This record gives sequence, C-alpha cells and structure tokens, in this order.
Amino acid sequence: MTYYQDDHSDRCEFERPGSNSALRAATYRNPRNLPCPQCEAPNRLTPADRRRHYVCDECADINEGGGY
Ligand SMILES: [Zn+2]
Repeated sequence: MTYYQDDHSDRCEFERPGSNSALRAATYRNPRNLPCPQCEAPNRLTPADRRRHYVCDECADINEGGGY
C-alpha cells in the first residue's frame, strides 16, 4: 500500500513544479521513505529533507499560514 512503488513514480502531488515546496525531489539514492515529523504521515520526506528538519508540504503550508 505504498504510493511509491519505484523510482519512476515519484511525480506525486507534493512535488508540484513551480510551487514553493522546499522538499528535495526523491531519487533512487534519496528515497522518500521517512515520515513527516509533524503530522507523522508516512513516506513524506527524504533523508535529505530530514537532515534539514523539513516537514511535509501540507505541514509547511499550515506552518506558513495556509498560503493559498
Ligand atoms: Zn506533515
């Protein structure tokens, strides 16, 4: 029940081109397999994101006041 079956299916709704997302794009060396530290949703962050103490885009939007 994962949304990320392989490295070619990472075009997900959380990587919107042109968005203000700070998250790193998932790659085969940097899989999006870590939970968000804020909402604990699984498979939201990559190891690079975690090193930067990021949260998922949904939480980032909430933390930034809703945005849209
Ligand atoms: Zn989150």
